[in-house]
Amino acid sequence: MYFGSVKFFKHLIIGIIILAILIPTSLCVVSGLENKKKDKEITDLKAQISELKLSSDPSFDTAEGLFELYKNIEDKEGFLKLLSEYDSDLYESFVKNIPASGDNVIPAVTSTPETDVPEEFITTSSEPEPSDSPYAALYPELYCDTTADVVYNQDMDHVYLTFDDGPSQYTESILHYLDKYNLKATFFVVPSGSEDCNRLLKRIAEGGHTIGVHSATHVYTEIYASVEAYLNDFKIAYDRIYEATGVKCELFRFPGGSINDFNEETRDEIIAEMTRRGFVYFDWNVDSNDAGGATWTEMYVNVLEQVANTNRAVVLMHDHNNGYNTVLVLEDIIKALLEDGRGYKIDKLTPTVKPIQF
Ligand SMILES: [Zn+2]
Repeated sequence: MYFGSVKFFKHLIIGIIILAILIPTSLCVVSGLENKKKDKEITDLKAQISELKLSSDPSFDTAEGLFELYKNIEDKEGFLKLLSEYDSDLYESFVKNIPASGDNVIPAVTSTPETDVPEEFITTSSEPEPSDSPYAALYPELYCDTTADVVYNQDMDHVYLTFDDGPSQYTESILHYLDKYNLKATFFVVPSGSEDCNRLLKRIAEGGHTIGVHSATHVYTEIYASVEAYLNDFKIAYDRIYEATGVKCELFRFPGGSINDFNEETRDEIIAEMTRRGFVYFDWNVDSNDAGGATWTEMYVNVLEQVANTNRAVVLMHDHNNGYNTVLVLEDIIKALLEDGRGYKIDKLTPTVKPIQF
């Protein structure tokens, strides 16, 4: 009888040994093939990226090239995964900037954004239920009117010049230099309600620049005392701007930035309430340090060095009565940025610019 015989056990042992060798070997071969396939995909991607880099003229951005690849590739998820494995920094900066419109638009974005643009690129401004917030009864009309989904601009190499604390005796000089180079910028203002202030606010608005709320009083200890105190101050500034210009502000900047020594206790609640109302705040990632008394040279170096080290720059400057150095250096900064080989684009902030926030 074969089963139970010595021969049977011999065959059984040999069978087990063969299986023990065959199974891991075939697994290795399969995963090796998988790795090889992945390696090849990454190599292809590398080649495509370095081709982009090679073919680039100074104004051509690798990111733009990546978008070309991205929009032509069917497996967008796979592409993003590969890119993250190949170069995590490049991936990070790439995914933060998805084009919204114009030549670089991803074709599917306009039709079915949710299938082609990862969710993180779209912000849905939901109309909040009044009952959601304990502050809903305070200024119930103080809402930002954005009803559509925001798809952020592709804004690599963009530089957003922002001027806080104006209007001032230097507002017209700042506007003059912006006009001279046909540039738009952003003014986070502290409107006093005076006739002169209103006239300057109007000039800013008529120049096509963005006006955002900064504060009515700019007194840290008052405005950050509570959510109500912040809203009271914001509402005064918002109304004054509207009365002077007809502009309903959508953007704002916290005095001292969103994280400062005065709002530790209240900032989370204030930010939540302002966001609930649809307003968008911008901090900055480039500081001219003009408010800190920087000299001409320091401002020039601060701005140009920091801009060079970031993909998309929101530059903090000031339009205030001590701002003589800012006006002196502004044109030189503009010229240096425009003449730079990296092809910086200077523009104003809008709700479709992905915010820079601390
Ligand atoms: Zn300020």
